[in-house]
Amino acid sequence: MAVSIGIVGLPNVGKSTLFNVLTKQSVPAENFPFCTIDPSVGVVPVPDKRLDRLANIFTPERVVPATVTFVDIAGLVQGASTGEGLGNNFLSHIREVDAVVHVVRCFLDDSVTHVGGAVDPVQDIEVVETELLLADVQLVERRIGKIDKEVQQRNSDAATEKALLEEVVGVLRQGRMASSLSLSADQRKYLHGIGLLTVKPVMYVCNIGTHYDERSVDVVRACAKRTGSVVVTVSVLSERDLSVSDGERDTVRHEQPEEGVDGGEGVGSVIRSAYQVLGRISFFTAGEREVRAWTIPEGFTAPQAGGVIHSDFEKRFIRAQVISFDSLVRAGSYASARNTGDLRTEGKDYLVQDGDVVEFMHS
Ligand code: GDP
Repeated sequence: MAVSIGIVGLPNVGKSTLFNVLTKQSVPAENFPFCTIDPSVGVVPVPDKRLDRLANIFTPERVVPATVTFVDIAGLVQGASTGEGLGNNFLSHIREVDAVVHVVRCFLDDSVTHVGGAVDPVQDIEVVETELLLADVQLVERRIGKIDKEVQQRNSDAATEKALLEEVVGVLRQGRMASSLSLSADQRKYLHGIGLLTVKPVMYVCNIGTHYDERSVDVVRACAKRTGSVVVTVSVLSERDLSVSDGERDTVRHEQPEEGVDGGEGVGSVIRSAYQVLGRISFFTAGEREVRAWTIPEGFTAPQAGGVIHSDFEKRFIRAQVISFDSLVRAGSYASARNTGDLRTEGKDYLVQDGDVVEFMHS
């Protein structure tokens, strides 16, 4: 289940540099194409130390991490919603991703021009988010205009849809993102489906560089708190310099991804936090051939999780053998886990948990 994340922000804040660091982290695994698909799209492995532990137990032929696709979405300038810069082109790229990483400049460096004249994270966030809000208002108003006729013909589905759209446009006009509404899963899915931008989860990456004013990060944290969002600090250019100058460092940091430079949190945190804001978890399949991590939304049942691997696992699901990662590591093998009773049989209603190691039985 591919997860895609768009990197947005004003020009010159470090988006492309961050994208390059993220895609450089990609340690190529056997037979697995971690690569930059095109200059602005890259598939990145999700750092997960649990895979190494499982590999120690199973000594498999290959280890395959879960992946996230990052898209470097350039071109946002003030006025994008009315066609400035790359305008609609830029917005259509955001429509296609599941979540947004908003890079905000906190670093102080006179040699790098700031489009707004000075480092001001709150102002920058407002410029970007205003464009998204304006684009969404246009989209929702057009949509309401389209379904009005059906509402007049007493189509009750259209009436329900219109009520939701009016609620959304009310919130947008107050300058609030659609994500601030408390929405049911179906409503959220519908709004994603019509291409609403501000319903997507957002996380902020503060690019702190080697010099920054701590207050600038504090104000971003305050912004994020209002929308229940997450903030990660990264010294983007130093991270890039490290990954370029020292190939081995990549490997080290793949195992210790929390560790960043210049007091930042490192790019591993960007990937993991993206998982968190998207409500995604990982489960594993493990055997002598392959140890592999799979991405699912929280709340998936065993058959739904199986469907991510193969549609037969969902359609012809019989049961699943499940053990938590911790129990398996403690037991040291499936055989001893079976003896201790840690290896359980679960049915079709079981909700797969983060870190479960699962084997699916199907007819
Ligand atoms: P984008 O336009 O947002 O994609 O920004 P880029 O990644 O192209 O970076 C714009 C400029 O800012 C480049 O000259 C980078 O070298 C510089 N830059 C990016 N990150 C940092 C940083 O952490 N510190 C400093 N001093 N400069 C940075």
